[in-house]
Amino acid sequence: MAGKFEGVDFYDIDTLLTEEQRMVRDTIRDWVEDRVMPLIGDAYIERRFPKELVPEMGELGVLGANLPEEYGCAGLDNIAYGIIMQELERGDSGIRSFASVQGALVMYPIFAFGSEAQKRTWLPKLASGEAIGCFGLTEPDYGSNPAGMITRAEKTADGWRLNGAKMWITNGSQADVAVVWAQTGEQGDTRSIRGFVVPTDTPGFTARDQKGKMSLLASDTSELVFQDVELPEDAMLPESTGGLKHPLMCLTQARYGIAWGVVGSAMACFDEARSYSKERVMFDGPIGGKQIQQVRLADMLTKITQAQLVAFRLGQMKDAGTMTPFQVSLAKRANVDMACDIAREARRLLGANGILVEYHSMRHMANLESVYTYEGTHDIHSLVLGQTITGIAAY
Ligand SMILES: Cc1cc2nc3c(=O)[nH]c(=O)nc-3n(C[C@H](O)[C@H](O)[C@H](O)COP(=O)(O)OP(=O)(O)OC[C@H]3O[C@@H](n4cnc5c(N)ncnc54)[C@H](O)[C@@H]3O)c2cc1C
Repeated sequence: MAGKFEGVDFYDIDTLLTEEQRMVRDTIRDWVEDRVMPLIGDAYIERRFPKELVPEMGELGVLGANLPEEYGCAGLDNIAYGIIMQELERGDSGIRSFASVQGALVMYPIFAFGSEAQKRTWLPKLASGEAIGCFGLTEPDYGSNPAGMITRAEKTADGWRLNGAKMWITNGSQADVAVVWAQTGEQGDTRSIRGFVVPTDTPGFTARDQKGKMSLLASDTSELVFQDVELPEDAMLPESTGGLKHPLMCLTQARYGIAWGVVGSAMACFDEARSYSKERVMFDGPIGGKQIQQVRLADMLTKITQAQLVAFRLGQMKDAGTMTPFQVSLAKRANVDMACDIAREARRLLGANGILVEYHSMRHMANLESVYTYEGTHDIHSLVLGQTITGIAAY
């Protein structure tokens, strides 16, 4: 194993990257080292999203990086976008979650289903980090099955009146704008679910921090409440006519980024475990020279390499326009599971030090439990794949 990225690029994926993709990786990797790593431990302990990094993320072009330049975005290919997610999550899943929500769940629906005016109003501000966005789909009683959502947008003489609540909303308390999915017809009629662009200073809109989290502590998670929120006619995303399919299309974008992102957290944990194994001496020798730890590290490297190949191939298919949501389900499910395993094994290898915030594996381990649950739980992706394999829905 040689070269700058020794040990975490065992199958030489580096040689498959374009010069631009390598440059993107190095730029974001350096930024994470310089700007995220020095503050992330304290931010985590203080349960604080480091909002001061947002304008820098805007300047780096990581927000909605695969959307077109004409709206102020970087216009990168999907592999470069995936690499950005990987490098951000090497730092912390909360930082990657911020970028995923902003890009894939707020900017993407405005780009894909919005009017030209909505695109021109919001995309440049969201790309630069001048505005922060959140995405409201999940409700207190409708998590894995948003089809039953209660949040309702009622037609009024000159627009819409929004009532209801959304739960577990990333960036919720920081957001300037929320993309909210609401029922416009009968509850359960998934065809009449529509997307709305809701400025968070609209009267009747409130966001409350979710208290008591034990995971993703350097990320803002909130409950949104809408009480007679009066919206103009043009608040609706005009092309969001596909019912539930359209928020699910946003989730496909975000899950794609997660499949790459979690590889970054696993790489960070592997790096930490490998260097610790060489330094920590017990029973007269480095623990890295003991067979049990070598098996552990060999398993970690194998799983990371498999996940890197899955992410890369998924990126190729996304760029070719052939990627299916089912292929994304496989990648999200497998790669997050992999990262959970790697983080836990790294933490264990570190012994008592592994529970300290000065080391990173336990922070990643705790974060990844949220990633395992959000954007379709592991179980739900099992059911998606089960249906794909057998043709029988088992929800
Ligand atoms: C930190 C964090 C950030 C989030 N950010 C956002 C956000 O920005 N926007 C947003 O809209 N949502 C967000 N979510 C919500 C997330 O998408 C939901 O938590 C997720 O969809 C699961 O819903 P639930 O928590 O209600 O679990 P439930 O749906 O209640 O599931 C509970 C358990 O039952 C299992 N289960 C469910 N259905 C079945 C079935 N048919 N068969 C077998 N098992 C089943 C699940 O796998 C899980 O183990 C976030 C969540 C977290 C934790």
